[in-house]
Amino acid sequence: MIQICETPDKCTGCGACANVCPKDAVKLQENNYGFLHPVIDEKKCIECNLCSKTCKKVFDMELIYPLKAYACTIKDKDILMKSSSGGAFSVLAEHILENGGAVCGCVYDDELKPIHICSEKKDDYLLMRKSKYVQSDTGLVYRDAKERLEAGKTVLFTGTPCQVGALKGYLGKGYENLITVDLICHGVPSYAMFREFVKYLENKHKTKITDFNFRSKKYTWQRITAEFTDFKGKTKNIGKNDEFYMYGFSVGNLMRPSCFECRYATENRIGDITLGDFWGHNRVKLSCDRINGISVCMFNNEKAMSLLSVLSSKMTTEEVDYNAVVNGNTCLRHPTVKGTKWDKYMDACKNGRISDIAKQYRKNNLKGRLRSNMKLHMPLGLFNLIKKL
Ligand SMILES: Cc1cc2nc3c(=O)[nH]c(=O)nc-3n(C[C@H](O)[C@H](O)[C@H](O)COP(=O)(O)OP(=O)(O)OC[C@H]3O[C@@H](n4cnc5c(N)ncnc54)[C@H](O)[C@@H]3O)c2cc1C
Ligand code: SF4
Ligand code: SF4
Ligand code: SF4
Repeated sequence: MIQICETPDKCTGCGACANVCPKDAVKLQENNYGFLHPVIDEKKCIECNLCSKTCKKVFDMELIYPLKAYACTIKDKDILMKSSSGGAFSVLAEHILENGGAVCGCVYDDELKPIHICSEKKDDYLLMRKSKYVQSDTGLVYRDAKERLEAGKTVLFTGTPCQVGALKGYLGKGYENLITVDLICHGVPSYAMFREFVKYLENKHKTKITDFNFRSKKYTWQRITAEFTDFKGKTKNIGKNDEFYMYGFSVGNLMRPSCFECRYATENRIGDITLGDFWGHNRVKLSCDRINGISVCMFNNEKAMSLLSVLSSKMTTEEVDYNAVVNGNTCLRHPTVKGTKWDKYMDACKNGRISDIAKQYRKNNLKGRLRSNMKLHMPLGLFNLIKKL
């Protein structure tokens, strides 16, 4: 019996093994805790070992130190408000699509499950905007990207660093017409956890949720809140500490085990370009809009540098000291630390008790919720001062 990943605990669920299998014998399935892991159909397997060889290659991919870092904010206010940080992804995606290329990224399917798709349609890229704090199912997206690359199309692939590493390991060679964008990554909860969370919210609010925005800018970019939309188009805002999911995401209670040992949580990067929130912005002088979002954009090689003029044509771009970026963003220094309640949440997910735990969280955190909701309504200057203190 083939063991695909040398250390199964380190499996990121990237899906490179499923994409490379010539017999389609590998499927990613939810394990006990709801995280995606590869399962081999022994009836189909011919023991060629391509899956395990590719997995090893993925873990050996070289990381590179960025050449330059820029703070970027898109000038178009409408796009800025629809983006997680400063809208850099939209500028890159529109450039690729306008020039006949394809964009690969994460969208919700009809069940609010994040999945990766590759598309040449503007309507699809619009759905890729906004970070979904849930692991996306990559399906066969690496195969799709390869087919387009082989046909001579330019492909922009965006995803978590482990997904970018998976694509590169799967392809096994460089392509001039491929541009990879990795995100600074805090880690991912499972879709199973998110599905249970949505179910709990639907019961609580007696409605059907049709969209979930983890990066609402209702109270500015610096004061992140989430927001869901129901079947009637009505939206409801959720504060950072209002529900266990948002709080658990920020303190490491919900992540996949591999995220606590992530090899990509470092200043060296896997993609041509790295995008993230410029959380270290207060440490540098900038002329851009700090209120509604700043992307930090790292250009990691010469191919990336050639796209700087594309970003500069639609964004305010200011070169910044990479050390300030690293100092302001823990995920560039070390992996997210496992939260103290991780086991409790995993057991609840496994035993179908998320709703109980969600109610318990609200009861036990009344003071914290009130405090953070008060902060939401403060002037931004005072909010930042309190945060600093
Ligand atoms: C799970 C996750 C954790 C993150 N953690 C951090 C962090 O700790 N620090 C930080 O500075 N930045 C983090 N980011 C990146 C940040 O949230 C923004 O995505 C980034 O700043 C780009 O902003 P934008 O305005 O250009 O992108 P948007 O226009 O909002 O585009 C979002 C991009 O993210 C991709 N994406 C969305 N959801 C997923 C997903 N589930 N899996 C893979 N790709 C996805 C889309 O394909 C698209 O390329 C994280 C993103 C994700 C998805
Ligand atoms: S290739 Fe990715 S999904 Fe497959 S076993 Fe390795 S890490 Fe896990
Ligand atoms: S050994 Fe070959 S056939 Fe079997 S699962 Fe792996 S890649 Fe597929
Ligand atoms: S933290 Fe690392 S392993 Fe986890 S999703 Fe992000 S890149 Fe992948």
